[in-house]
Amino acid sequence: MKSTNNVPLLGFAAYSGTGKTTLLEALLPKLTETGLRIGVLKHAHHNFDVDKPGKDSYRLRKAGASQMLISSRNRHALMTETPDAEADFEHLLSRFDHQALDLILVEGCKNIAFPKIELNRQEVGKPWLHPSDDNIIAIASDSELDVAIPTMSINDLDAIKQFILDYVTSRNASSPVAAACCDTLSPAFLSVVQGQQKILEAISPIDATETITLERAYGRILSEDISSPINVPAYTNSAMDGYAIRGEDIAHEQFDVVASIMAGHGYDKTLTKGQAAQIMTGAPMPEGADTVVMREQAIVDGERVGFANASIKLGQNVRQAGEDLAVGQSVFTTGTLVQAPEMGMIASLGMNAVKVKRALRVAVFSTGDEVQAPGTPLNANSIYDSNRYTIMAMLQKLGCEIVDLGILEDNEAVMVQAIVEASKSADLIITSGGVSVGDADFIKNVLEKRGSVDFWRINMRPGRPLAFGDISDVPFFGLPGNPVAVMVSFINFVEPAIKKMQGVLNFEPLKVPAIATESLRSRQGRTEFSRGVYEIDSLTGQLSVKTTGKQGSGILRSMSEANCLIEIAPHIDTVKPGESVTIIPLQGRI
Ligand code: AMP
Ligand code: MG
Repeated sequence: MKSTNNVPLLGFAAYSGTGKTTLLEALLPKLTETGLRIGVLKHAHHNFDVDKPGKDSYRLRKAGASQMLISSRNRHALMTETPDAEADFEHLLSRFDHQALDLILVEGCKNIAFPKIELNRQEVGKPWLHPSDDNIIAIASDSELDVAIPTMSINDLDAIKQFILDYVTSRNASSPVAAACCDTLSPAFLSVVQGQQKILEAISPIDATETITLERAYGRILSEDISSPINVPAYTNSAMDGYAIRGEDIAHEQFDVVASIMAGHGYDKTLTKGQAAQIMTGAPMPEGADTVVMREQAIVDGERVGFANASIKLGQNVRQAGEDLAVGQSVFTTGTLVQAPEMGMIASLGMNAVKVKRALRVAVFSTGDEVQAPGTPLNANSIYDSNRYTIMAMLQKLGCEIVDLGILEDNEAVMVQAIVEASKSADLIITSGGVSVGDADFIKNVLEKRGSVDFWRINMRPGRPLAFGDISDVPFFGLPGNPVAVMVSFINFVEPAIKKMQGVLNFEPLKVPAIATESLRSRQGRTEFSRGVYEIDSLTGQLSVKTTGKQGSGILRSMSEANCLIEIAPHIDTVKPGESVTIIPLQGRI
């Protein structure tokens, strides 16, 4: 969560019925009397109106104002309609006037990652949040607790006040710029976006280039700007099989057919008054002619032709020289991915070689004593290695050169050697397995000796554990072991990194909204990637999406059956049938 604000941020997390608002209402005067200037962000689950029916602002808003700012001598309020989706948390925070605040308190947004005090009352009978939420930094309750974080009585407002004052002081004392960023609070727990940002910041494009023949350029990335050395088309020609005539003769009833011009051939005379030339698609227009009438509209009478029923527009069916590209016009810039149309366009310029980025060399290996190569009888307590194959396929799709290092046993010496070896020639190293907490931790030990690697917990499912860093300056990804988590992590983190290393322009993946046809469970604060199947609904014509069924992170079949990932954003709890969700089409990507 990138935040430009530097005002300390603190939330209150509790189930409804615990009395959050009542507590805040009692607490605010105690805090403001110390001189603190406080902003409050309150999350409401339902449609709400702040201005009442009948009031002017209400009437204007209902009448269609998408933003309604009402002001008076004492206060002003901006109401912004967000019919498509609730504004995200960062955006809402940015709406505050940070210059005029010392603290922002948040009521609600229970599971978005930022520092919070958990409120709990026994009589409400709800479970605790802190065991599964690292962002809870203190608890105010009426229970006796034995926990590692500060606890207070929920009825002791002065204690809560003091905690908040201390919190504000400590936030301001630490880096003032990062004060409100949850990142500094729990460095190991990141949102998907934070993870992506950190990775992209650490990655730089490779410089090496090579010149290759056009035939081999498909899927590569241009490392030169290309401008057109010629006009395309090079000469003005007919877009139809038909008859070329002079615009000023359109009204004539009949024409003398004086020539038949084939593609690849020319007519060296100038058409004169009342003349037509039969012409084929792609053939050069004769001098004097500027309009083509299609053959189907011609009434041929011996050596003469007429177009009695045709309505002819001056200049029709003619492709002008340079109309596609003029000499010197910029065609492609460095960073363009060469796909089918680019192949054709480069060829149309007469070029048969291009300068491209050198293919990225990516070293891949799997880890785990239980992981066994396919093609051999399965040993007891073992599984076949699928991750290496999915990863290599996704790398191939991205145009990488693959260095397959096979399967490494959970043995430190073996791993050190393999990784150090790989870092000598590879541009990027990817492993799977062995990065989750409580694992054999080999990867961690190995890496800490050879480079700098962070072990993150990403607030996402599947794919929570992720290691990222570098081994002797070669970027390293330690993906989780579960096969679906591998793919989802690759799509979210490795693919953007590779695109940046390749110097690709515009690598934002396509995301579109679709209507959920079943209820999708999620948890606030976490980004959920379900495997989905989208289609165009035959009744509404809209995109609709359902899941592939069971969503276990080991069920690779779910990826095979899916044509999209359904992305449920952190601020969304549960998606009900009929509600809109974001989908990420997978076609062409895996
Ligand atoms: P780990 O993160 O190493 O604990 O692995 C998590 C799960 O993924 C375990 O069930 C592993 O057996 C499985 N796993 C790890 N590596 C692979 C692999 N290369 N292919 C298939 N499954 C794997
Ligand atoms: Mg393992």
